[in-house]
Amino acid sequence: MRKSILTVCLLAAVATVKSQSPMSPETIDKNVKSLLTRMTLEEKVGQMTQISVEAFLKTVNGVPVEPHVFDEVKLKNGLEKYKIGSVLNVGGDAQTLALWRKRIEEIQKLAMKQRLKIPVLYGVDAIRGNNYTLDAVLFPQQIAQAASFNIGMAGKAAEVAAYETRAAFIPWNFSPVLDLGRQPVWPRIWETYGEDPYLVKEMGTAVVRGYEGSSSTIDRFHVAACLKHYMGYSMPLSGHDRTPAWIPERELREYFLPQFASAIRQGARTVMVNSGEINGVPVHANKHILTDILKGELGFKGFTVSDWQDIQYLYQRHKVASDNKEAVMIAINSGIDMSMVPTDFTFCDDLIALVKEGKVSMSRIDDAVGRILKVKYETGIFDQPAGNAKDYPLFNSVQHNQLNYELAAECITLLKNEGALLPLKKGTKILVTGPSAASMRALNGGWARNWQGTNSDETEKAKNNILEAVTSTFGADHVVYSPGATFTEASGMEDAVSKASSADVIVLCIGEDSYTETPGNIDGLTISRAQIDLAKALSATGKPIIYVLTEGRPRIISDIEPYSKAVLHTYLLGNEGGNVVADVLSGKINPSGKLPYTYPRHTNSLTNYYHKYTETLEFDPAAGYNPQWEFGHGLSYTSYEYTGLRLSSSDLRAESPLQISVTVKNTGKVVGKESALLYVSDLVASITPEVKRLRGFQKVELQPGESKELRFTISAEDLSFINNELKRVTEPGAFKVSIGGLTSSFNFR
Ligand code: BGC
Repeated sequence: MRKSILTVCLLAAVATVKSQSPMSPETIDKNVKSLLTRMTLEEKVGQMTQISVEAFLKTVNGVPVEPHVFDEVKLKNGLEKYKIGSVLNVGGDAQTLALWRKRIEEIQKLAMKQRLKIPVLYGVDAIRGNNYTLDAVLFPQQIAQAASFNIGMAGKAAEVAAYETRAAFIPWNFSPVLDLGRQPVWPRIWETYGEDPYLVKEMGTAVVRGYEGSSSTIDRFHVAACLKHYMGYSMPLSGHDRTPAWIPERELREYFLPQFASAIRQGARTVMVNSGEINGVPVHANKHILTDILKGELGFKGFTVSDWQDIQYLYQRHKVASDNKEAVMIAINSGIDMSMVPTDFTFCDDLIALVKEGKVSMSRIDDAVGRILKVKYETGIFDQPAGNAKDYPLFNSVQHNQLNYELAAECITLLKNEGALLPLKKGTKILVTGPSAASMRALNGGWARNWQGTNSDETEKAKNNILEAVTSTFGADHVVYSPGATFTEASGMEDAVSKASSADVIVLCIGEDSYTETPGNIDGLTISRAQIDLAKALSATGKPIIYVLTEGRPRIISDIEPYSKAVLHTYLLGNEGGNVVADVLSGKINPSGKLPYTYPRHTNSLTNYYHKYTETLEFDPAAGYNPQWEFGHGLSYTSYEYTGLRLSSSDLRAESPLQISVTVKNTGKVVGKESALLYVSDLVASITPEVKRLRGFQKVELQPGESKELRFTISAEDLSFINNELKRVTEPGAFKVSIGGLTSSFNFR
């Protein structure tokens, strides 16, 4: 009911604004060509240059003045002298909506004074809502959204994120992350849609549609998406950010490429490049990956942007170039179209010199600039460089916040519920404890109102943290609080233990504090010692304990898992996280999330669910795949029964896909939402087959006693894999289907 009200409101608001007539692809093409013939080399190189906004801000002792103001001399130097075409980032902490609008207007006003009046393309990391604008809705992080298995809702959240970003007059979003989250140590797991390539692909494609809309150009309620980080970034051998990855091309094509290919087919305008190296070659220097595969094979017509400082890093860190000029030459000739420099103009000077020396061809420059100009036309900023404040009445509206709550409610995942402890009975006395109990920072994680998410407790204090929400739901006289520990020190254990005596249950909130990228590197995946000590001390009280895991990656808890009666995984649920936790504890929300990654039990067994047979307990009985919880695991307050698995044929043929149907019934007493996950196993193949792969999923809502028939279609292409000759093939032979505990088999002929 609420959902349909939301949709109507969104549509009504959009409909009240007269739509501008979009430019046709032919006109855009003609305009780009005409501009290119009129541009000087300096103007072209300027278009390829992206500078971070802090380079243009007034500072005192090197720190930007708050609220931010431009230093006009610096801004003119960038736009007039270097003719730069793009600006990024916030320059520190989030700014108000009004300031963002003024910022973009000032930049565009100056851009319009230049010879060719080419608007600047401003880009930000609005990765789950327009996080760098104060009060914009902070949705669950990608990993949590993946747990919802609800691509429709993720798409709607993306549309709202686009709307609220465009409300700040920003037309370009560095999102979504399409990296495969299969290395749990990696500090950017929470930025991904988890470990499964199919789930990542489905989520990513829906979110690109939400960001960009579905017409041939991007209207003023949508933004250009930026797929990142192309490709193979998420799999460093050590698990530490921006350290070497070793990925054979066969695996790149099998696991890391399809989600980019699908999002590009959907129309994604831009791609950001992997900062790391693969097989000894930094991806910013890899022509095969950037040009042959991306622009050749995938036919990508948008532009590539480097990641932060990554051209400079080719000589400063990777040591594949001896100086900046050589680094620029390598990167541009490999296929980078725009350099996120980020704070000086060395890129411009060096690239101009390289073209004059014939080391970078004019056709490469024209190709890059043509791609950039095309996106500028497609986002409508030539027609309207900034925006119209009155077009965005729904910024931070009730409807947008309601959608945030509804999405977060579908993400939270119940991992354990012994003796049906949850939901808690009315009148239960609760001790709320643990380092994340009273923290908006732990609910939101990084990319909040600043890069590391350090100021969320200040900026989001109008929202409920877990303690506040539990207190308002269960009543102040039923809730006691003790922090118990910080993430690193178990300094308040005695107080927590003593307060437990007056409680019936303990809600222990543990996990991680916020971090983003390299600062989040860890030397061990196990949850911190202080939190283990706190859990052990509380277990001695004999009171039932509910763990609430607020964390961006699956921190190992095998030592203390036995002390819990129930476990709720919140990932990084965003601003509605506190309310959603309280409503799950009370039973108002029936949890329906399922794990988008394998939750490991042991530090040296970090195997994904689509492991090989040799990694199973059958052939590695000592340490084979035996996680704490499997990918796809998630409990409910009701129960479901699957019956009647039927295949349309026992043979699948290339020309006729297989229809698979199954009936799922809510056999419990409360309404629930069930994500049905369809797996297929290739029983024998020329490349050792995985034990199973997710090939379809559907989420349905069922009233008590209600059943629904679900239908899936599987084609030969869906079951294909990359063989040793790097060809996509489906080999004839036997396959097994499994869903909801039922199995069946068929042959591909
Ligand atoms: C990150 C990107 C981000 C960029 C701009 C980099 O450090 O890797 O994901 O889009 O900064 O903020």
